[in-house]
Order: sequence, then C-alpha cells, then structure tokens
Amino acid sequence: MSADLHQLGVAGLAKALAAREVSAVETAQHFLDRIQAQPALGAFVAVDADVTLAQARAADALIATGHAPALAGVPIAHKDIFVTTDFPTTAGSRMLAGYRSPFNATVVQRLADAGAVTLGKLSCDEFAMGSANENVAVPAVGGDAVVPARNPWDTSRIPGGSSGGSAVAVAARLAPAATGTDTGGSIRQPASFCGVTGIKPTYGRASRYGMVAFASSLDQAGPMARSAEDCALLLSALCGPDLDRDSTSIDRPAEDYARTLNGSLDGLRIGVPKEFLGDGVAPGVRAAVDAALAEYEKLGAKRVAITLPRTELSIPVYYILAAAEASSNLSRFDGVKFGHRAKDYKDLADMYGRTRAEGFGDEVKRRIMIGTYVLSHGYYDAYYLQAQKVRRMIADDFQQAFAQCDLIAGPVAPTVAWKLGEHGDDPVADYLADIFTLPASLAGLPGMSLPVGFGEHAMPVGLQLIGNYFAEARLLNAAHRFQQATDWHSRAPQGI
Ligand code: GLN
Repeated sequence: MSADLHQLGVAGLAKALAAREVSAVETAQHFLDRIQAQPALGAFVAVDADVTLAQARAADALIATGHAPALAGVPIAHKDIFVTTDFPTTAGSRMLAGYRSPFNATVVQRLADAGAVTLGKLSCDEFAMGSANENVAVPAVGGDAVVPARNPWDTSRIPGGSSGGSAVAVAARLAPAATGTDTGGSIRQPASFCGVTGIKPTYGRASRYGMVAFASSLDQAGPMARSAEDCALLLSALCGPDLDRDSTSIDRPAEDYARTLNGSLDGLRIGVPKEFLGDGVAPGVRAAVDAALAEYEKLGAKRVAITLPRTELSIPVYYILAAAEASSNLSRFDGVKFGHRAKDYKDLADMYGRTRAEGFGDEVKRRIMIGTYVLSHGYYDAYYLQAQKVRRMIADDFQQAFAQCDLIAGPVAPTVAWKLGEHGDDPVADYLADIFTLPASLAGLPGMSLPVGFGEHAMPVGLQLIGNYFAEARLLNAAHRFQQATDWHSRAPQGI
C-alpha cells in the first residue's frame, strides 16, 4: 500500500484513511520523503516534518474516534500566499523573509478543521504577480539559491504562475492537492501547464482573510488537484461565508460539491467564444481543445458559437486595475509593522525608501509604479476610471453570452508552457499570455482548468470552463463527467 500512496488522489486517500488501511502519519511521511527526493523541482519553500507529523498524529487520533471529518489525515500543501501559524509565510518575497503569522488564513483553517494535514508551503511569484513562477524571490527547500519552480513534464520549462509550486507539487505527486490563488489566472494557467485540475470559485466564495493581498477585487482562493472530484472535496471544505473577517465574503452557505458530480450533460449548452480560438492560439492547443469539445458533444452537450467581444481589452484593463490595487495594498510593507526593514537609514522617509527598494523585486516595483501612476491626479480619470467602466462592460458581455449557453469553454492560455527565461526581460510577453483567463477574473466568475491532452513539445493543455456566478457545482460536474470518459487527468510526467 505505502509504496503507492502518491498514486491515490484526495478521494482515494480519504477513503483509505477512514478505513484505516493506512495511517495519517504513514501517509504524511510518504509525501515528505517524496518532497525531499525532488528538490530540483523547486516546488516547496517551507517544510517542517515535525509540524506535519504532529498534525498527522492528531488526525490519526481523530480517525480512531470514528468521528473524523471528511479530509482527516489527507495531506495538502499551501501556496505561500496564505498565512499560517505553523510555517513561515513569504508570499515569494524578500520583504516577508522570516515572517510568521500569528493566525491562519481562513482557507487554511477550514481545511485544517476538515482534518487536512499540511505538508508545507509552495513556491509562487512574488505577491502572486506573474505567469511563470520566475518572479519568486525566496529560496526553495533543499538549497540556498532562489530558483523558480520547474515543470515536471519538462524541467527546462516554466510551470506557469503564480501558483506554480502548487501545480508542480500536484503534477509530480509531491502532494495529493494544493491550494492556489487566482487573481487573473493563477490557478487555471499553472494547472493547464502542468496537467492538473484547478478551480477558482465565484469572487467572494472563498474568504480572502489571511491571503496576502495583491488585487483585492480580484483575488480568489481555490484548490488544485488531480481530478475534479478531488477539487470538489476541497472546495466544499474551503468555501463559505466569513463575514466578520472579509468584507467581500458572500453570505451563501458552502455546498457539498462532491454530491452533485454525476449529473447528465445531456443538452448542456457549451458556448465557445470565437475570440478564444483566434490566430494567436498555437495549433497543438487548438487541436486539444477541439478534441475536448468533440468529447463533450459525445457526452450529450451542444456546442454553441458565442462572442466575448472585449476579450482583448481585458489585458489593459486588468493590468491597470490590478496594479492600482497592488500599489495600495503593498503600501503596508514599510518596514514598520512586519517583514524586512533596511539596516542603515538616515530618517523615517529614508527607512521606507530603502526598505522597499531592498524588499521588493522588479516586477512588484513595476506594478507599484504603474498603479501609483494610474491612480494619481490627472491620470485617474483617463486610466483607472476608464478601466473600471470597461471592466463592467466585460462582465455584461458574459451575461449576454450566458443567455445563450450554460458554460463557456476555450483554451486556458494561447500556448503550452514556455521555456524558462524565454520571455527574457519582457514582462508584456507574460501579460499577453493571460488573455483568456483575465476576462472571467474581471467579471468575478468561477472558472476552472482540466487536462485535455498534449500540445506542442508534448506539453499538457488545459481546457478552461467558465460558469455563471455560483455555478461551481455545474463546472465540477462537467469536468468530472469528462474525466470519467477520458484519462488525461491521470497521466503523470515520466519518472514520477
Ligand atoms: N499573471 C497574472 C499577473 O501576473 C495573474 C496572476 C494571478 O492570478 N495571481 O498578475
């Protein structure tokens, strides 16, 4: 049994643990050993075997009572953007090196309450700003060097970002599941690039409390795992109202998504926006997406041609609004309350300046400058306000589309994962690759990625499914039915 534990997903492990075929300690140790054996992937930025094994022992005690919660003893790992009491939290930044939170993020706490055991913290782009995990500024476990996480399907390629470490950990079977956050695609895109399944719920569904803030009107947490079924189990545990702690939390009870996984797809109308399959999409990606849509038709769904006419505008709109919010959110990192503080300074202003110059990486500084610019007097109307107006129009376009279809489908990204360093010093190349994930983020809609095959360079391709508000159950059902009929989601990289 033990030798194969990493082959079981969340559902399989939960069952084996509940039946006491395997203990939580044994399970945790198995994954800790795998993490230790794979330092070159750079997935983890913090592990602490003592902490993990103590949590596992507590889970075993709970299981022994016969009243254990759903995820008792299931190991998971958290993107290092969620604050945790038991592990340090860096948000991928030098600014927070050595920081330890006095409380757990709500998402972390809810998963712990459901019995999950934490394996450690996962590499991510600094403050979740990035599409490749190359903006990480803290060292990975097993070395002192700062290295981006690597795609286990081809270690010369990026895993995607910003939840790159999360996708790598799941794809390489270093963890059965992981948390991620998605501001403009950071769950869906790395899931797609690494061949795993991930879902970002409707904005407000998962609490943002204890998630280091990037762009608060967009940030959402969600699970990444091998299958839609596993994601359903985790999403049911981590969602739900948190009204006292998050002012944008939605007052709607959590749902049991695992219970609604077997609905028929007969007559399901899948809208395919023509803007999502234009010239910029790599042929291999297009072929995999087309084949997936054909599979859906076999399962009873109907393909409907739709339009999301402002898709291209989502890039400038997002990169104005996300930067504006980031510039405000990151003002708290001033060397006073927490995190890094410069050693030598003349006076208070100098301390602020030096602290921020030393603590933040290039991409973060770039966004703070853009954000400050678009919010400043004289430019606010021309950029920020204009972007807010177009954001509303993008959301309206979706509502028009949902009059014609039940779900929207298309690629997650125009290409497969690119080579490390391929985009060089050109941040805009990264920004452009977000074109298909940004619209749902701006509209606050739920979206997911599920593996549907391989494209250029034999790299994984994800299908993006977007639902209307609160359609998480419908999304997960559609993904689950696809996964029952295909086996893309159970493929693993060579040697894993
Ligand atoms: N790639 C986008 C960015 O860099 C999205 C990141 C995210 O979703 N956290 O902002």
